Amino acid sequence: MTTTMESVWQKIIERINAENSGSSKMFIGSIKPDKLENNILTLISVNEICRDIINKKYEKDINRILKEFDPALNYEIIVKAGKSLNKPLSKPLQPTLPTLSEPVAAPVAKTVSSKYESMFNSKYTFDSFVVGKSNQFAYAICQGVTKNPGNLHNPVFIYGGVGLGKTHLIQAIGHEIIKNDPKAKIAYLSSETFTNEFIDSLREKKTDDFRKKYRKIDLLLIDDVQFFAKKEQTQEEFFHTFNELFQQKKQIVLTSDTSPDKIPDVDERLASRFAMGVVVDIQQPDLETRTAILMNCAKKSMVAVPEDVIMYLAQGVTSNIRALEGAFNSVLAFAGIMNKPIDKDLVDQVLKNMLRETAGGKISISWIIKRVAEFYDISEAEMIGKRRSANLVLPRQVAMRLSQILVDASLNQIGEKFGGRDHTTVMHACDKINKMIKTDSNFADEFERIKRFVDPNK
Ligand code: ADP
Ligand code: MG
Repeated sequence: MTTTMESVWQKIIERINAENSGSSKMFIGSIKPDKLENNILTLISVNEICRDIINKKYEKDINRILKEFDPALNYEIIVKAGKSLNKPLSKPLQPTLPTLSEPVAAPVAKTVSSKYESMFNSKYTFDSFVVGKSNQFAYAICQGVTKNPGNLHNPVFIYGGVGLGKTHLIQAIGHEIIKNDPKAKIAYLSSETFTNEFIDSLREKKTDDFRKKYRKIDLLLIDDVQFFAKKEQTQEEFFHTFNELFQQKKQIVLTSDTSPDKIPDVDERLASRFAMGVVVDIQQPDLETRTAILMNCAKKSMVAVPEDVIMYLAQGVTSNIRALEGAFNSVLAFAGIMNKPIDKDLVDQVLKNMLRETAGGKISISWIIKRVAEFYDISEAEMIGKRRSANLVLPRQVAMRLSQILVDASLNQIGEKFGGRDHTTVMHACDKINKMIKTDSNFADEFERIKRFVDPNK
């Protein structure tokens, strides 16, 4: 069985590399066979980009070659991040094939009990956090919290601009505490969710349940407290929750985009509670940290990214880490979709697009159409054209919904740009995509990825 699986995949690699030029090696080489069962060859990709590119570009080829072995064969690619698949950056990437006995890609969040698996992003751990000058203090405080929750630093207030790692750090605390004490009762939520739950409890006359829920926990992690602004009744409620937990020596960690005294429209009493313990900021990453973060991305992606390209990219994107990761992913996606080598020219192209299209944070509908078309491998003309085949309708609806989210335009204006469609068509598209996001978590992930492909700063 092992031999069959490996030889099948080996054959596919050889044939695809022979039939395709450019970047196929890079992406195909990052995929590993996992098992061949029930006529399905399961392949593992360490990230979504490689999986998407392979599926988009080589699906037909892989299926064709598979069927030469056996017409009943199909394949699927699953994404599993795992240390065992990571290779040092300096080693050239070779399509090495694991035997079945070799452990393949243990799920990252194994140590986190299942109850919290959906609560935390498995990627946001201390291990994957790159420490540099800009965040070392925040990192140390957060680590301290996990060593002695409730006693050493309480509350902890982390602030800094978007995409600098606040959510990553606050979730890393959650991961670590659950690892040390699987029975710990943790609540991780944004201030928006807290607000919404509180409002729901008011409406349903269940405020007692709400109070019990949040006043009985061991660790309260509230992300983005700036969204408490102007919500006076919720602030009042949170104030009491905070006091109760604090008196019981339960750990509280909060994040925000500004320091406690600068959060607009938050009651002074509450703001002063926020600042009672340790207040620590995260600053923009320096060049060294940016380079280290990109090295990490490259290692995880399993794609051989030349070091001079990494340096060049680190010099080019300075604002925040999310944008940096977005640019890195765009470079990979560009290389994959357009069959181009990963070099400085490609970085220039990606950066130019980022700069031009996101100048002043503005993204245009035309840009969204272009990028979504690229993502789904259809033309811009098809995107705005009249044909209604399923492979065109979904990309079109995704692009409409993205236009609604990312561009300050009316439904009419959006419809206009999509070949003069009616505003009700746009409305229907947006509703449908919203429903899909709510009911299909795979699609929700894909939508997030497209959003970043369209706007790397998001
Ligand atoms: P914020 O909450 O401050 O807006 P996030 O925590 O969401 O930012 O971080 C944005 C992205 O950058 C995430 O994918 C996160 O994993 C990554 N990131 C941020 N800081 C670091 C870091 N120091 N090391 C590795 N990845 C980081
Ligand atoms: Mg955040």
